[in-house]
Amino acid sequence: MACKVGIPRALLYYRFSRLWPVFFEKIGCEVKVSDETNKATIDQGAASVVDEVCLPVKIFFGHLDWLSDCHVDYLFVPRIVSIEKKAYICPKVMGLPDMAATAKKDYPPFISPLINNIRGEKDEEYIRELSPYFSCGKKRLKQAWLEAKKEQARYDQKISKEFWIEEGLKDDDPELLNVLVLSHCYVAHDRYLNMNLLEKLKKAKCRVVLPENISDELLERAVKGLKKKPFWTYGKQLLGAAFWFSRMPGRKGAIILTTFGCGIDSFIGNMAERHFKKAGIPYLIITLDEHTGQAGLETRVEAFLDMLRWRRKHYENNFPTYGEYLDTIARDAGIHRAYSCCTSHDK
Ligand code: SF4
Repeated sequence: MACKVGIPRALLYYRFSRLWPVFFEKIGCEVKVSDETNKATIDQGAASVVDEVCLPVKIFFGHLDWLSDCHVDYLFVPRIVSIEKKAYICPKVMGLPDMAATAKKDYPPFISPLINNIRGEKDEEYIRELSPYFSCGKKRLKQAWLEAKKEQARYDQKISKEFWIEEGLKDDDPELLNVLVLSHCYVAHDRYLNMNLLEKLKKAKCRVVLPENISDELLERAVKGLKKKPFWTYGKQLLGAAFWFSRMPGRKGAIILTTFGCGIDSFIGNMAERHFKKAGIPYLIITLDEHTGQAGLETRVEAFLDMLRWRRKHYENNFPTYGEYLDTIARDAGIHRAYSCCTSHDK
């Protein structure tokens, strides 16, 4: 099947960046992955879809628009319901094909297989979902699918062991900080959206830890103590990473990096925040929206890192970013949560 398939570089593309392109290439398609996000992508996406959706979904639509002008034959917009057993993906991701059908632009036809792994579906079920779109036969589809899965597994294995750290920076460097960036993969890896935060942290002598660097087994184990297992895959991943990180040795701080309009982050972020407070881990909350300015973000991050280093040097324990000390004063004075101190510019 010689056709050109467009894959938007947004949302779960960052989770399956090997699986889907390799699969399409193996069955003989030409693959066009949209360029990295830029201002025009965000503006176009915001104009194409309803205002109420989160920023990453707007960006997704910006990529769809961009690909539509690239003469692709099909756009790949899968209906993803679940990517692992007994956990769902965010409802906004599930509804992408429907949102796209009602968007303000005419798109090329979609390839929209259902991806639902809630009961631990077998490969055959995915092949059955994909086969109506292709004429190359189930055998070839299966072979391509298995090879693409292998490629993705190799990549996952590689990134689960790699923290982001500046080359040459030693473990015993007195300036080294461990910084967890608690964020969805499509926020952490979209350099325009997060204003290149990971590189900035690397350059500032931080070892950057992302949820994806922690294996699924460790994340599962980390959330086991909760009364109820998080319902959503990304909720579990973020909370598991927060719990795991608090046991990581070394001087550390966490950045809760969220985007405007994210439903899951609104409460998972709050649970992580309460956990960091309890565990005594300084944290910074950054909420990105269409108007977030580079200078504002840099100032906050620099101040946060300075504070972490300053505390390290002076063993200083008043005015922490997580407000514990101020809470203690308030409690001792009989004032019920009189105020809190938090570095967030949103709360
Ligand atoms: S998890 Fe949050 S950011 Fe991601 S698609 Fe859902 S609402 Fe948007």
